[in-house]
Amino acid sequence: MTKHQKNIAVTIVLICMVVLCKPAYYMVLVFLILVVFLSGLLHGIFSLNSGYFMNSLCKSPLKKCILSFDDGPSEYTLGVLEVLRKYEISAVFFVIGNQLALHPEITNEIVKQGHLLGNHSYSHSNKFAFMSTKKVLIELQKTENLLGVNSLKLFRSPVGISNPNIARAVDKLNLKSVGWSLRSFDTQSGNSSILAEAMLGELENNSLILLHDNLQNSVDNLELFLVQAKENGFRFTNSKELNSVFNV
Ligand SMILES: [Zn+2]
Repeated sequence: MTKHQKNIAVTIVLICMVVLCKPAYYMVLVFLILVVFLSGLLHGIFSLNSGYFMNSLCKSPLKKCILSFDDGPSEYTLGVLEVLRKYEISAVFFVIGNQLALHPEITNEIVKQGHLLGNHSYSHSNKFAFMSTKKVLIELQKTENLLGVNSLKLFRSPVGISNPNIARAVDKLNLKSVGWSLRSFDTQSGNSSILAEAMLGELENNSLILLHDNLQNSVDNLELFLVQAKENGFRFTNSKELNSVFNV
């Protein structure tokens, strides 16, 4: 039973009890129960960390940080790979299927350099949260097909959204959902120094970090952040350690 199903069951039981007993202000109590239910639901939809609809790995199980990159491969990915090679770090790249189809050579380079690939849907549609299970399945399967032998059955939901349809599709394809504990918000920042400072303020020794490899300043963002993180004693996974986390 998922947390969502438990939440529904508890809500129904509480409402039935209130309606049957009809205490004073019982409509107010019903309203309050519904408010609590809806807050739980919204938290579940927007936070993979909550494990409300499906379980997601959101922290590194090692005392080393894990870097992850979303929305590539892109023209900036090779630069990101160069920085990772310099610091001997292995990361997970959650690729978008239609980007993968455009840049198969970059995707091969990601694998060649000892990084892992994950599925980040085919189109990264802003309607992803409203898709039926069937449509989500098509999105995920298309990208799984493109990943082929490089598929590790890892999935990161676009924008970190989860709902029953996405959870059903993930379950059906036997994918492992991966979230994050530190969101960089690099898509909303134009200044790499400010971004690095903000990230450092939230960094823990087991952070699972979300960055993007499709931004003009992706390379600068990464390098500045790593310089400061290393200066402060934080360590990041190498290939062997990353493989052990994802049972590769
Ligand atoms: Zn994304």
